[in-house]
Amino acid sequence: MGKHLVIAGHGKQPSGRIDYGAEGNGYKENNLTKELCTLMDAYAGEEMSFITDHDVYAYRTMGIHTGWDSITEIHFNAFNTQSYGCEVLIHADFEPDALDKKLLAVLDTYFVSRGFKKRSTALGNRIENMEVCKTKGFNYRLVEVCFIDNANDMKVYQANKKAIAMGLVEAITGKVQTPAAPDTDATGSLYRVQVGAYKTKGNADKMKEKLKTAGFDAVVVKG
Ligand SMILES: [Zn+2]
Repeated sequence: MGKHLVIAGHGKQPSGRIDYGAEGNGYKENNLTKELCTLMDAYAGEEMSFITDHDVYAYRTMGIHTGWDSITEIHFNAFNTQSYGCEVLIHADFEPDALDKKLLAVLDTYFVSRGFKKRSTALGNRIENMEVCKTKGFNYRLVEVCFIDNANDMKVYQANKKAIAMGLVEAITGKVQTPAAPDTDATGSLYRVQVGAYKTKGNADKMKEKLKTAGFDAVVVKG
């Protein structure tokens, strides 16, 4: 068992029916939350565990998940196709902690930051899993990666989901993750590994420096 728990939002209900969550641009939220967990798992090693096979909220089982250093629940937002960006939801009785800030910083590289959003029974926007974690003393946040119904957000997400997964794992474990090295096949063709695509050259250069620090040669290509 790892130290950190990541929960894919939505999924199988006690009735057996699947709650897919929001939909947009040909995507279903629960498919995306499960896929992102799978992508993160590729970098996570033994440090993290994932729940992707049922809806923890619907099963009302949040309270049994004791002993984790952190719990992060993954969702994708939806509104009116015009809203966009990333946000991290926390309980209104808390201020964002170091992990909340690191997670938002990872997403902020790709999406416009909507900041931290506070939720509670007192505010009238209770989130069940969040309330249970508060009561139990679990370290919890709910991450809205971007808007599933916004075409540009989803384009950026699809182009960068592996790098986003790597960044989220890095934020949660506190350990720099190393992308897979380039590999050659028998004919000697080179397989190129892309770790990200960025709106600004500054962010691309930042990732290049990060890779260099991790011991990888990287080039920034415009395209
Ligand atoms: Zn959701």
